[in-house]
Amino acid sequence: MALRIWTPIALQCSASAALIAMCVGLLTRWLKVPTAWTAALAVPYTYGKGQNVAAWTGANSQRTILLWGPLLLGALAMLASACIRAEPAPQWWRRSMLKVRRSLQYQLGPSKIWLRLTDGLSVLDLMLFCALFALNVAYFARALVLESNDLDASIAKGEVQEQSKSMLMLKEASTQFGQLMFIDLWLLFLPIPRSSFLKDLTGLDQQAMIRYHKFLGLWCFWVLALHGGMFYIYWGVSHEFWVEWKDWGTLDSINNLAGTLSFLCMCGLVLTARESFRRKSYEWFYRFHLVCFLGFMVLACMHYSGSWRYFTPGLLLWGVDLLQRASTSSANVAIHSVHLDEEKDVTTLVLQHARPGCPLGDIHLLVPAISRWAWHPFTIAASTPAQPSAPGTLTLHVKNEGTWTKRLADLLLARPDAAIRATLPQQVFPPHEPWTGDEAVAVVVGGIGVTAVMLSLRRMVERRAAGALATRRVAVLWAARHASEFLTLDAAVAAAAMSGDPWLTLELFQTQPSPVQECKLEAGLESGSRVSSLGKGLSKAGDGDDDSTEGSGALQQRTPPAPPKSGAWPLARPRAPRPLAPAHMGPLYLAALHILTFFGGFVGLMLGWSWLPEAQTALATKQVTKPFVTTISWRAGSLGITGFCVVGLGLPYILLVAPMMLWRSWASRPGRRSDTPRMQDLELTVLGPRRSLSHDMGSPHEAATPFQPCLLEGGKLVVPNGKASQLSVDILPGRPPILAALSALGAAHESVSVLVSGPDGMFRSVFQAVAELNRGRPKSGSGYFSLHKQAGVL
Ligand SMILES: Cc1cc2nc3c(=O)[nH]c(=O)nc-3n(C[C@H](O)[C@H](O)[C@H](O)COP(=O)(O)OP(=O)(O)OC[C@H]3O[C@@H](n4cnc5c(N)ncnc54)[C@H](O)[C@@H]3O)c2cc1C
Repeated sequence: MALRIWTPIALQCSASAALIAMCVGLLTRWLKVPTAWTAALAVPYTYGKGQNVAAWTGANSQRTILLWGPLLLGALAMLASACIRAEPAPQWWRRSMLKVRRSLQYQLGPSKIWLRLTDGLSVLDLMLFCALFALNVAYFARALVLESNDLDASIAKGEVQEQSKSMLMLKEASTQFGQLMFIDLWLLFLPIPRSSFLKDLTGLDQQAMIRYHKFLGLWCFWVLALHGGMFYIYWGVSHEFWVEWKDWGTLDSINNLAGTLSFLCMCGLVLTARESFRRKSYEWFYRFHLVCFLGFMVLACMHYSGSWRYFTPGLLLWGVDLLQRASTSSANVAIHSVHLDEEKDVTTLVLQHARPGCPLGDIHLLVPAISRWAWHPFTIAASTPAQPSAPGTLTLHVKNEGTWTKRLADLLLARPDAAIRATLPQQVFPPHEPWTGDEAVAVVVGGIGVTAVMLSLRRMVERRAAGALATRRVAVLWAARHASEFLTLDAAVAAAAMSGDPWLTLELFQTQPSPVQECKLEAGLESGSRVSSLGKGLSKAGDGDDDSTEGSGALQQRTPPAPPKSGAWPLARPRAPRPLAPAHMGPLYLAALHILTFFGGFVGLMLGWSWLPEAQTALATKQVTKPFVTTISWRAGSLGITGFCVVGLGLPYILLVAPMMLWRSWASRPGRRSDTPRMQDLELTVLGPRRSLSHDMGSPHEAATPFQPCLLEGGKLVVPNGKASQLSVDILPGRPPILAALSALGAAHESVSVLVSGPDGMFRSVFQAVAELNRGRPKSGSGYFSLHKQAGVL
């Protein structure tokens, strides 16, 4: 019992401790590895013709072990902890952890300034910033002090220097600003993967990670600007500017022009990532980000061939994430049903999946008919588990925001069986529930942002029903432009909120002044009344086939695409849609994926690098001159990083991912009895402007659900219960009174979790209300508020 409690905790603590200790030691250059050990780590070049040439130097091995090692060990430790069926930790541990978490999340003043600059400044943000600053200063200062001491010693010995001490120190400082990338680029790439063990370890979500990535990106930009700018000054003062600036790696092993070009790519990254550009033109931002990143990385490796040390650790985790996504991203996902509602501009898409559990969190969609490469994120608003006989479902509500989402709605209207690909996050651990342990929860949502909190609300309702929820009060404030957006409310949550139990309250606000539309429940659209469409043709909207399609609304049935021929080679067949496969095959598979990616990366790096030992052998045997080897450096650098990417991704793909895809393809072929659930028939519902959609959970198993979908009636959101006195909530005009609602909760409860999901303006209002209430706590004696941003635009 105690083992089950403490082993996972110990594994997770040791993963973080190892990661922090080893990296801080290495990154600050405090970690002294004996030279004999380093030398023993060198890999001799077997074609070196008896010369003492290393295929891979001991220093390189040391860097690889110390920079990659903690990441691999941390990932494996986390996966090992996931394999243990953990028991809940004792109360004292959970309380202490809660206190630590609260202290780290405490927002520092002056909140308005931090809010203007970023999403506030928590104690954790400040600690991370101080750690980054301290690491940079320690790394930089130590090198400068050593250089200064060396220069003083040689001057004292009477040795003649080529330049004055100040000029040499300027050169050293410029070099060290470049070397700071050991720390800064190493950290920059760690937050990128959508799924990584670091997320599970820290409990930070993608939004928080992207926020750190943005900050680190800016930090790297300024440090690199100092690196380049100071070198320009140094060259200018020593009258060598043009010679040095345009040199393509002939004067030294450093390729100066490649460095300038790499920095220009960095400028492109920073400029196109600016909010004004990104928000207006996300697609172009994404394209630029990929192209400029590749340019920045490859040119940086040409500039200094050892740059792989900066880039590779973070890229390895990203590689694991890409490979894990690749295993599901090539297959078309079977659609269970599509609901299009012109009035509220929301497409409700129900996809089929083959996971025994309920996938949670964000899902990424790619629709080749719209764009072959643009993946768009959405939140899973509801899910049901797959059964051996039938697939589970994932419900997504997609609001028509811009080009892609509108084209998706049009496409699905014309072709509800359109090819859609999807990827799910890795999810080895249960989802992080930031509200756990708090007495009350306030949920403030805007429009379609509700999808990000709907599953949390549903889990609270289910736990409350099972008597397993400590939270004593949940208050939901939901603002939307169109009343019909409220129809995306989960039926179970709606029923709980309208049951009269004051534990869960729901307040709805319509911010757009248009009158609330009256909408009827489409009896014919209830999940239990679906008709199999297999073998039937398309029945036209309102053609009288179905009584429920009166008015401008219509229920259309479509025939799913013909199954592929069973005899064909799985990958050669046209891609038939099938339920979305699980993101991975368990912790062991993920552990193997990590090991193979790290191993492949290492092999690729060495292969690309082997150009250099060959040139060094030629130099040692006097077949070439030193300048020849110097010009080889940039080629070795670019080949090394290319080999790293190609083999690092290729090896695990060939050995693990492709076999799994083949197996899945074979297992799901028609006629084979397998555990993979059979694809369900496809259903399309189109509702005209005066009608609204019955909220369909889309599950084949959900016919038995005791909850009815909502409808709008006379300015109310109603849950029909078959009785004359229906359960309903009034829809109020205007904006929600955030401060008043929060302060009422704080007056009655010791601790309140505030979950926000909505536009930036709403987040800022909630942030300011929370900051104000927390500041006034000593006087008012109100409860403590912790703020959790659940979703936001990228
Ligand atoms: C974690 C997360 C969960 C989301 N969940 C939902 C949801 O459940 N329902 C829903 O309707 N919307 C959701 N969104 C927003 C949705 O991804 C965007 O509305 C959609 O991608 C817009 O694409 P567009 O081309 O139609 O609009 P555009 O006009 O091109 O973009 C509108 C805004 O959406 C964002 N965006 C555009 N393309 C992308 C992309 N490829 N990746 C990330 N952001 C992009 C940008 O901030 C942009 O300013 C979510 C976003 C994120 C980040």
